Amino acid sequence: MKQHDAMYIDGSWRPAEGSGTIDVVNPADGKVIGTVPAGSAQDVDTAVRAARAALPAWAATPPQERAAHLAALRDQLAARAEEIAETVTAELGSPISFSRAVHAGAPIAVTGSYAELAASYPFEEKIGNSTVLHEPVGVVGAITPWNYPLHQITNKVAPALAAGCTVVLKPAEDTPLTAQLFAECVAAAGIPAGVFNLVTGLGAVAGQALAEHEGVDLVSFTGSTAVGKKIGAVAGGAVKRVALELGGKSANVILPGADLAKAVNTNVADVMRNTGQSCNALTRMLVHADHYDEAVALAEAAVAKYLPADPASDDSRLGPVVNARQLDRVRGYIAQGIEEGARLVTGGADAPEGVEQGYYVRPTVFADVRPEMTIAQEEIFGPVISILKYQDEDEALEIANGTVYGLAGAVWAADQDTAVAFARRLETGQVDINGGRFNILAPFGGYKQSGVGRELGAHGLTEYLQTKSLQF
Ligand code: NAD
Repeated sequence: MKQHDAMYIDGSWRPAEGSGTIDVVNPADGKVIGTVPAGSAQDVDTAVRAARAALPAWAATPPQERAAHLAALRDQLAARAEEIAETVTAELGSPISFSRAVHAGAPIAVTGSYAELAASYPFEEKIGNSTVLHEPVGVVGAITPWNYPLHQITNKVAPALAAGCTVVLKPAEDTPLTAQLFAECVAAAGIPAGVFNLVTGLGAVAGQALAEHEGVDLVSFTGSTAVGKKIGAVAGGAVKRVALELGGKSANVILPGADLAKAVNTNVADVMRNTGQSCNALTRMLVHADHYDEAVALAEAAVAKYLPADPASDDSRLGPVVNARQLDRVRGYIAQGIEEGARLVTGGADAPEGVEQGYYVRPTVFADVRPEMTIAQEEIFGPVISILKYQDEDEALEIANGTVYGLAGAVWAADQDTAVAFARRLETGQVDINGGRFNILAPFGGYKQSGVGRELGAHGLTEYLQTKSLQF
């Protein structure tokens, strides 16, 4: 794995101003696999200045040319897909098969989609006697989390570049090597100096300096709701644009008459994906009283197939969680679920059998979970499912909508119309109907405290545009 003890600023790898560093740890064994610079406020300032200097030329570059650059970036990512997958597995701990399919695969597809959108998007439109220009917002400060290290980066950088914005990225402390690989791909794609800049560092130092920097016109943040609130306040104070992709506590509502086995198995697979570290994970399964016991038994059987195993091995289906802090956090939630009276069906807060090292959590199913319990309200971010019982549709809806979050959801019913009617009443940004698949062109983002703004597709592009109308 190639590594840089420098940061990618203004088209070259430069040493940081300070001497601080951050160790990167493999969560499968706790060993240090790399060290990156801990950027300071000064480094952020250098990067923002580079992005600002590059802005006029990039904003004036014809969309077709920006599209060609994005297509070249997509090709670079595709050429290095295996290296990307291995890097994500090494620093995040997700099973290598999932890293190949999703952590490497999705960013290629998303970058490709923005190459197409840059070429086809109507950056000018006529409305009556006006011509409306959709212009780039300016310099973007992008702050990303570790759970989908490259996907979260491309979800911001690709639309920003397509729109004509320039970017300074501050990736998560746990997964900076993937971000360095991305920067190499940007350089190899021939994207002009200063258009994309990378500053690694701590959230409270480099992240905060980026959010607060006067030279940043838009802060796009993905991460926890707690930090999102701080960033929203900083951006609000400076009247700068802000996009927030935050946490979730999504419900999978299984209505009577649905294919129960399919609904439960799909739900279990969804929560085990990426070791439960997906913001849109369907962590609450809502089942009608008449089918409840059967659903619990099905979930127990389905979870048994997810044995924690070395993520580097081809047949691993469940890796460790990302770091020791998350391990404590997830196990703490499991202990709290037991303490508050939920029924532990399988799993638990102790270490999985046969695993001597690494940050592994036992895949866990809770039944008899009541809506007010902590495990039904707070985001756990681990392989933990809570199964809740409802008596009728109104109660199911009340439970589903009864958290501060509103990121995703799913509805299963005997027929599509029933499922869609229920989905219309859900307070959430995305709903999968009878197992509907993720669509990289559909808007992704939250209702309520799950966020502000949308990513992906044309909706994601408009986040990076501001409008000017010319009257004739
Ligand atoms: P986090 O909020 O601690 O960190 C996210 C990013 O913000 C990191 O790059 C971090 O360095 C930076 N950061 C931390 N403090 C900061 C500050 N004061 N100012 C500026 N930047 C700061 O979250 P995490 O623990 O890295 O990620 C897990 C959380 O992210 C989960 O709660 C999850 O739900 C959420 N998440 C949401 C989405 C989504 O799309 N809605 C996607 C992924 C993760």
